[in-house]
Amino acid sequence: MTAERPTIVVIEDDPQLRRVLRVTLEANGFRSVETESARQGLLDAETHRPDLLLVDLGLPDRDGIEVIRGVRKWSEVPIIVLSARSRETDKIAALDAGADDYVTKPFTVGELLARLRVALRHTANHGGRESKEVFAAGELRVDLLRRQVFVKEQEVHLTPLEFRLLAVLIRNSGKVVTYNHLLRDVWGPAKVDQYHHVRTYIADLRRKLEADPARPVHLLTEVGIGYRLVTS
Ligand code: CA
Repeated sequence: MTAERPTIVVIEDDPQLRRVLRVTLEANGFRSVETESARQGLLDAETHRPDLLLVDLGLPDRDGIEVIRGVRKWSEVPIIVLSARSRETDKIAALDAGADDYVTKPFTVGELLARLRVALRHTANHGGRESKEVFAAGELRVDLLRRQVFVKEQEVHLTPLEFRLLAVLIRNSGKVVTYNHLLRDVWGPAKVDQYHHVRTYIADLRRKLEADPARPVHLLTEVGIGYRLVTS
């Protein structure tokens, strides 16, 4: 992280949107470095060592997903996708390639800034490694070391698999986690594509952790894509 203003590399080929992003970022205490091509974006990511990348998927020279894959070979820097593509498959592909989150165009400035803050806070909390031992949000408290879960200070019993699922969501809290990501990390590579496992266990977790499982406030559904554990 830079000592002063966090640096954000913006890879976006729409000049108007690029300008809006520059003004917004500068006005909110960020330093922005913008480019319109995937090739230059990859170079900027290496040269400027930014705190975060905003990546458009439809770029003139290459697909934004290739930028994500390229950066992920050497860096865990947060990447937020800016996408006009509303198809779930595109979002899933970007997230599975290593993006942390996505914002669908058109988006509001407030929405983008909120996502930026979550992504940057995540880096700060984890310091690049998972170091947080206790996760707390609202009435939910999870001690990751002791493997204990509390709702309103009452201990809740989770099965080992439920706990593993919750732990993966906590390690990625605030971010969208795809079905494939959850299946790979919780069930192992053999179960990829068997989304119903995830749905069943999320329903179980909601029954145990949410005040109203039909209206969850912690474990949110990203329709067709996966889940997001809300931090506050
Ligand atoms: Ca574009």
